[in-house]
This record gives sequence, structure tokens and C-alpha cells, in this order.
Amino acid sequence: MQRTPIIAGNWKMHKTTEEAREFAHAVRSLTPKENMDTVICAPFTSLDALVQELEGYPIAVGAQNMHWEESGAYTGEISPGMLTSLGVQYVIIGHSERREYFAETDETVNRKAKAAFAHGLTPIVCVGENVEQREGGKTKEWVREQVLRAVEGLSSEQAKQLVIAYEPIWAIGTGKSSSAEDAQDVIAFIRSTVEDGFDAQVAAQVRIQYGGSVKPDNIGTYMEQPDIDGALVGGASLTPESFLKLLEGA
Ligand code: PEP
Repeated sequence: MQRTPIIAGNWKMHKTTEEAREFAHAVRSLTPKENMDTVICAPFTSLDALVQELEGYPIAVGAQNMHWEESGAYTGEISPGMLTSLGVQYVIIGHSERREYFAETDETVNRKAKAAFAHGLTPIVCVGENVEQREGGKTKEWVREQVLRAVEGLSSEQAKQLVIAYEPIWAIGTGKSSSAEDAQDVIAFIRSTVEDGFDAQVAAQVRIQYGGSVKPDNIGTYMEQPDIDGALVGGASLTPESFLKLLEGA
């Protein structure tokens, strides 16, 4: 099964709208790589500007979170329809920073994944263990539960379009990336978990990224692995130079 690799930048809480526009201008020189999806997941305030500046260029725009409801009394929240009305195509769901600081749970991740598909957004669902779980040999048990809870109630057609990002928490923003072999081992296990939840066809199509201190000089080692279909990249996606180098290295 040939899966299209997907490289997504996660800007987290960085860049004003003006800075986002400058970034977009700088990366518009990008020559599209054949058969690769590229996404920038930006703060809500920059989404509109990025969609406008990148129109016609091979870089899609994603959000970093959303609410699952269409509208209502949810002060400070953003709905799926608000994102699609801007031209946003992807949304990160369940990033470990949202799970840790903003009370995201497996249940809200599942609601958001369903809402994303209901609105034609592609969810990038993040899973991953912390350092205690890793050292206690609990990585697979933990990640399996996160994956199965996230996909509960999705149809096979939706699950095939899902992007899962395996992001060990101890590797995010620390410079301590997982070895490509370890990441491959967990990601192959995630694929087999998807097979248990659906079937072999869905498992063969779902795209699974690695995330955690990916840089231009190590991205190639992940991309060589048979089950790793791309990367979710924080720090190294923040400057146009580094972002373009990531894409070259992928
Ligand atoms: C992330 O933000 O999802 C991430 C993986 O960050 P970094 O690449 O900086 O480790």
C-alpha cells in the first residue's frame, strides 16, 4: 500500500499574523515534492492570513485544536465550521501539551476527531507516552489505549483518512529524539492496533507520523522506516529556512 507522506509543522503559540505572513512569503518558493503532503498548523489568529498567502501553493493550513460543537455558549472556543469557513484543512487533536495543560482527555479527543470528519477536516491525532511510562515498559499498553479510544465510533472510511502522530512526550522540545528504530517499533504497533480496531485495509492506509525533536538532519532516518509516513515538527518548523530543509530532507 502506497501512502502519501505528510510533514506538518506545529507552530504552537508562536508568531503574530504579520510574522506568519512573512513566513508564507518566504516558503512560497517551495517546489512541490511529488507525492508529499505539507501542512502548517498555526495559532487561530494566523490561519486566515496563511490560507490567503498560501493559496495556490502546495502547503495546506491546519489548526492546533478546536471544539467539537458547531456553536454555542463556549467562551473562547473555536468550532470546526469556523475553521473550514477559512479554508483550513487539518486540525491537530490531543497534542500532549493540550492533554497536560488544558484537560484534554481521550474522550474529548474522540469527540473532536468525529467532529473534524463531520466537517471535512483531517484530524492529526497525537498519542504518546511520558518518561515514566517508557521506563516502566508501558509504552505500547498506553499508546494502544489512546489510539483505540480516539478512533471509537469512526467509520472505516474515516479511519483510512486519519493521521496519527506518535509523539513520545519525553522527546517533544527536548532535543532527545526517539531512535528511528524505536519509533518504527511503536508505530508498527500502532498500525496493528488500528487493524484490531478496524481491519487490515484501514491499517494499511492510515498515515502515522513520528514527532519529537525532528530536525532537518534526522528527518531522513525516520522517513526511511517502513511504517513512518511523515513527521509532526515543532521547533524546526518555525523558520522558513529550517522548514524548507525539513522538506528537502524528508
Ligand atoms: C510538537 O510540537 O509536536 C513537537 C514534536 O515539537 P518538537 O519538534 O519541537 O519536539
